[in-house]
Amino acid sequence: MSDPIERSGLRPEFWKTTPLERMTQPEWEALCDGCGKCCMNKLEDEDSGEVVMTRIACRLFDDTTCKCGQYPIRHQFVPECISLSPRNLDSHLYWMPETCAYKLLRQGKPLYGWHPLISGDPQSVHDARVSMQSRTLPEFEISEDDWEDHIIEEPR
Ligand code: SF4
Ligand code: SF4
Repeated sequence: MSDPIERSGLRPEFWKTTPLERMTQPEWEALCDGCGKCCMNKLEDEDSGEVVMTRIACRLFDDTTCKCGQYPIRHQFVPECISLSPRNLDSHLYWMPETCAYKLLRQGKPLYGWHPLISGDPQSVHDARVSMQSRTLPEFEISEDDWEDHIIEEPR
């Protein structure tokens, strides 16, 4: 399968040698493993602050490709979608998936072998069953009051 994320022309194993703050924009974008877990709606407990994941996908999420359907212009439709950067990464770690490459590197951990940067195959994240491909529900079909019926454990 062709890689929906551009990963050509990058420095070999740049994620091992280059701090997040010093990566080029293409390198930063290539860090995304394509799992789609950040595009699921989360619920946060007001008292404890605990965040849980649901299988209710953002309205722009494509369950087949496991990608944003309108990534370059997504803010026209979903203004609250976060543009992750080295500057704001720390403030978002609390809700980000445990296997997210940005979170792993920030925590000083290695990437998993199924990461497309390591496997060389964008399908490997799906084959490892750690992505949201073909296991979501669209948010426009489920009332927000019922989202808690669709809480899931992070696939990992
Ligand atoms: S959770 Fe992280 S690695 Fe997965 S799609 Fe979102 S940004 Fe990419
Ligand atoms: S707008 Fe796109 S990138 Fe942002 S959460 Fe929705 S599907 Fe994901």
